[in-house]
Amino acid sequence: MKQSVKDKDIVLTGQYLGVVEEYLPDKQSTYIKDGEIYATKAGILTIDDNKRVISIKGHHEEDRKTVQTGDIVVGTVLFLRQYSVGIDFQTINNKIHFNSSYFGNIHVSQISHKYIEKISDAFQITDIVRFKVIGQKENEYILSTVGKDLGVIHADCSICGTPLDKVGLNKLRCSRCGNVESRVLASDYRNVNQNLRY
Ligand SMILES: [Zn+2]
Repeated sequence: MKQSVKDKDIVLTGQYLGVVEEYLPDKQSTYIKDGEIYATKAGILTIDDNKRVISIKGHHEEDRKTVQTGDIVVGTVLFLRQYSVGIDFQTINNKIHFNSSYFGNIHVSQISHKYIEKISDAFQITDIVRFKVIGQKENEYILSTVGKDLGVIHADCSICGTPLDKVGLNKLRCSRCGNVESRVLASDYRNVNQNLRY
């Protein structure tokens, strides 16, 4: 009986990973021999829960410190401008990435499917927001929060600092002072299973 592997295992080149009945092997990082799947490179194993795709990422990919198009970034809003936000990036694709202040540009049309008049209706300073990187222009990243998983995941009352409660679609209310504010919220607002302040 060959040893089974699990998500996030470190595997070696040539290591047995499983059988084709069990997983959908990634062509870039695995090969199949007699219905069995083997690693073509060393790295960290990823097993996609939904599709059962099995693939390997090299260590250098896991440790990547630069932001690329398609990345999902969680960060804190440092400042707002008319059409843009300054973001202190905290995680890239759920991996902790400290000490990185980037300038992200988000056009009002890339905030929500719904019409947003001004950026302050969507975000405020100190909000924690989940973005998708959709491009790069010189030193600025072009960001989007269109999509139900994207948007504000934590916001504090701008008057008293109490975490705001969701009271409607993109509406928040402070339980302490009664202040009502609007944001573009991610579907898991204040229900995120990760440490948000590093
Ligand atoms: Zn308040």
